[in-house]
Parts: sequence; C-alpha cells; structure tokens
Amino acid sequence: MCIFCRIIKDEKETNFIYQDKDIVAFRDINPAAPVHILIVPRKHIESINHLEKKDKSLIGKMFLIAKQIAKEQNVAEKGYKLIFNVGRGGGQIIDHVHLHLLSGRIGKMP
Ligand code: AMP
Ligand code: ZN
Repeated sequence: MCIFCRIIKDEKETNFIYQDKDIVAFRDINPAAPVHILIVPRKHIESINHLEKKDKSLIGKMFLIAKQIAKEQNVAEKGYKLIFNVGRGGGQIIDHVHLHLLSGRIGKMP
C-alpha cells in the first residue's frame, strides 16, 4: 500500500484539513512554502499519466476543493500555485496523484 493510501486508511491519526467521500487534504510534511497543502483523492491513481476518462470529475473536484481551501487559508486574494508533479522527471516522488497548493515565499520543490 502506498504512503498516501496508508494516510487515508489511518485517517483517525492524521490531521486532515479537508475530507469528504472522494478527497482528503493535509499539510505537506516538508513544506516548500508557508502554506503547502496536498489535495489527494482517496482512489489510488499513480499519476496524471494514469488518469482515465472516468476520473474526469474527480480531478475537476480537486480544483474546486483547492479553491475552497485557498479561501479558508486566506490566500485566495494574495494568490497561490497549484501543481501536479508527473513522473520522476517531473519531481513526483509519491506515486499517488496529489495536487500541491502553495502560497507565500515558495522554496525548492521536490
Ligand atoms: P511529489 O514530489 O509531487 O510526489 O510530492 C510528494 C510530497 O509529499 C512531498 O512534498 C513530500 O514532502 C510530501 N510527503 C511525503 N510524505 C508525507 C507525509 N507522510 N505526510 C505529508 N506529506 C508527505
Ligand atoms: Zn495510494
């Protein structure tokens, strides 16, 4: 089981800042910015390269949740970045799709 699937499964021990039946969000353990949150589908999809047509609404929902979290974290006005790293060459180290939400002074991304 991948590390994000484990986090999702052991959800009682994790501090989710958002959760619903499809998606969870939690703070990055090694933040590259003052606000660095990961938006993660409960479904294990390895990467954007592994997306299928049926995942269309799930991925769309991730962006709507990102927008909501940005507002809750008071960065909606200031601005933020949303990033999917894809594959090792794209900086992806965890093979479970996740959307990075970053705001503030952004340091080195993996
Ligand atoms: P990526 O490089 O796009 O695969 O991003 C993976 C991110 O997951 C990195 O920014 C890591 O700091 C973060 N990360 C790894 N393990 C954990 C964990 N247990 N809890 C929260 N974030 C994690
Ligand atoms: Zn997984």
